[in-house]
Amino acid sequence: MFVGHLALGLAAKRVSPRVSLAVLFSAAQLADILWPVFIAIGVEQVRIAPGITAFTPLDFVSYPYSHSLVFLIGWGVAFGVLYRRMTGDRVALAVIAALVVSHWVLDFVTHRPDMPIYPGSSKLGLGLWNSIPGTLIVELVLYGAGLWVYLRATEARDRIGRWGFLALAVFLVVVYVAFIGLVPPSIPNLYISALAGIILLTVWSWWADRHRMPRRAA
Ligand SMILES: [Zn+2]
Repeated sequence: MFVGHLALGLAAKRVSPRVSLAVLFSAAQLADILWPVFIAIGVEQVRIAPGITAFTPLDFVSYPYSHSLVFLIGWGVAFGVLYRRMTGDRVALAVIAALVVSHWVLDFVTHRPDMPIYPGSSKLGLGLWNSIPGTLIVELVLYGAGLWVYLRATEARDRIGRWGFLALAVFLVVVYVAFIGLVPPSIPNLYISALAGIILLTVWSWWADRHRMPRRAA
């Protein structure tokens, strides 16, 4: 899942209006931020297997440290505690931890049975990715709802806040649709482009969100 995770990050702005969207996105996507790093250093494994699901050709052979439920609970608490140390924001700790763990729930719905509970456990997954229309409907509805909540919770301070954010919102859908079924030429190509995408998403969402503010009550 991709824009579905981001949807929860967008919606979380309503509960944590002071936390940058870049932080909320990073929490919802933490599993997919750690994953390319763990693939690059060889502690997790992925295989390119066209046809393994309709939506993605990736066979997630092993990713217990980035994608098991138990590790995500640990990563979520660690990220939340770190953020609270830096900002003193207690509410954000719970929101960040919940977002990190939400990644497992959404991936459990989407993936083949490849999602571990803990390293070495049996693997679960409902396989929504076997259907391209099903995946698109679920993710785009989630994303639309997340955007709606975000746009109601915040307002633009200036043009960057309006157009920079709108461009990001559209760009994410375009990239998401463009990547359906795309077969990466190699594993290094896969993790390098994933890391580049994360950096772009983080910088862009931080920049656009900084030019917006919590909406004043009417
Ligand atoms: Zn994931």
